[in-house]
Amino acid sequence: MEIRYKSTRSDVTVTASQAILQGLAEDGGLFVPTALPKLEKDLSELVGLSYQDLAYEIMHSFLTDFTEEELRHCINSAYDSKFDTEAIAPVVVKGGVSYLELFHGATIAFKDMALSILPHLMTTAAKKNGETKKIVILTATSGDTGKAAMAGFADVPGTEIIVFYPKDGVSHIQELQMVTQRGENTHVVAIRGNFDDAQTAVKQMFNDRAFGEELAAKGCRFSSANSINIGRLVPQIVYYVYAYCQMVKNGTVKVGEPINVTVPTGNFGNILAAWYAKQMGLPIAKLICASNVNRVLTDFFETGEYDRKREFILTSSPSMDILISSNLERLVYHICGNDSDRCRSFMEELAKTGSYTITDDMRAGLTDFRAGFASEEENFAGIRDLYESTGYVIDTHTGIANAVYRRYAAESGDQTPAVIASTASPFKFAVSVVGACKPGETEGKSDFALIDLLSEISGVKEPQAVTDIRTAPVRHDTVVDVAGMPDAVRNILL
Ligand SMILES: *Cc1c(COP(=O)(O)O)cnc(C)c1O
Repeated sequence: MEIRYKSTRSDVTVTASQAILQGLAEDGGLFVPTALPKLEKDLSELVGLSYQDLAYEIMHSFLTDFTEEELRHCINSAYDSKFDTEAIAPVVVKGGVSYLELFHGATIAFKDMALSILPHLMTTAAKKNGETKKIVILTATSGDTGKAAMAGFADVPGTEIIVFYPKDGVSHIQELQMVTQRGENTHVVAIRGNFDDAQTAVKQMFNDRAFGEELAAKGCRFSSANSINIGRLVPQIVYYVYAYCQMVKNGTVKVGEPINVTVPTGNFGNILAAWYAKQMGLPIAKLICASNVNRVLTDFFETGEYDRKREFILTSSPSMDILISSNLERLVYHICGNDSDRCRSFMEELAKTGSYTITDDMRAGLTDFRAGFASEEENFAGIRDLYESTGYVIDTHTGIANAVYRRYAAESGDQTPAVIASTASPFKFAVSVVGACKPGETEGKSDFALIDLLSEISGVKEPQAVTDIRTAPVRHDTVVDVAGMPDAVRNILL
């Protein structure tokens, strides 16, 4: 069955490869599949597959205009020794909960799961569509996407990548990872503003026709490495199926039995991939959406109103400091009966007034979701409890999911086997994590001293990504105002 991709805001459709190449639809909507495929094989047949073979099973049902050879080439180029474990995304069981470790790639955050394959999908898509222009990847980052995207696109022929990050909105390690990025085609720009400012300005540049023409005249075209690109979401479906298979293998569940999935959420991409996995037939009972104190999604699931008019709070889980969760638009589209007119009017209302409220019939489409948020204190207390009871150390984003899940389980009594998406290595957020595990011991210590201490208390060797930035020279130091972002792009490209 051919699957095409249409905008959440109109009825034009394109092929999978065109959707990946474009990133965002011309009307500002996001591309969604015209049908959601089912798992083609029995789960019992998938259990023994390698990550790469499973990735092929899942991805080929979505990316139907890629040949088997093309897709397998993309998969094998992505999921290789850049990952520090052959399992690629191992599940570990600690304190009665399964943690799906998605941080074994080059930049030690879950963004590597999709961004190590996106450049291959995109260059393949360019070839298939006879695209000769240079592809310029514009990316707004809350800390992890930027580095992972640059690692993926660095020195890929025919591409240029520009990353915008909030100057005061990322961890020191995240910033160091970005500003030391190598590759002639990589560019990093700090902005005086927050992640939402960066993401909104990037979307505006995509939709600015005159700017697009200016670039086209210079032989360039924009695309996106943010999770608004469907080429980010499809690879993320794979690891939920893979997690389930591992839980079958280690005896946590029998084939067919349900699991609950908890995801630390920001832009709503990762949890949406879990929802797609469920639509494919993966036995997921509850999808638990975990937020930090920027609790816009918790409120949405509780009341049906999405209201971004609130204070933007910087937290120790910076990759989730987001008030405009772009991918929620895809879910809104699906629960309003795949009706792009209705979806568009909600999004117009959001842009105009800062909020919208879905209808009761739409809320009925959300019954599989639960949502909750955790404060800094709850996050740190949960990280410490897990550490003290098991010796296992999680990062501050996984910590949010951990706190939200454990509260949900205690309050609901739901004993369904649980998996938590573990989205970053604790080494990326060592200051907060050591502060949580060993209160009082961070005083006066440098980031790298805390990394040493983390290695000691967790018994985990420092990842290569951290070793690399200890000595790497800073290559990027541009800082601009939000209004200066288009000119920053011109300075780089034109
Ligand atoms: C990006 C990110 C998230 C949020 O994921 P979304 O797909 O944006 O919801 C959570 N944790 C970490 C570590 C991240 O980098």
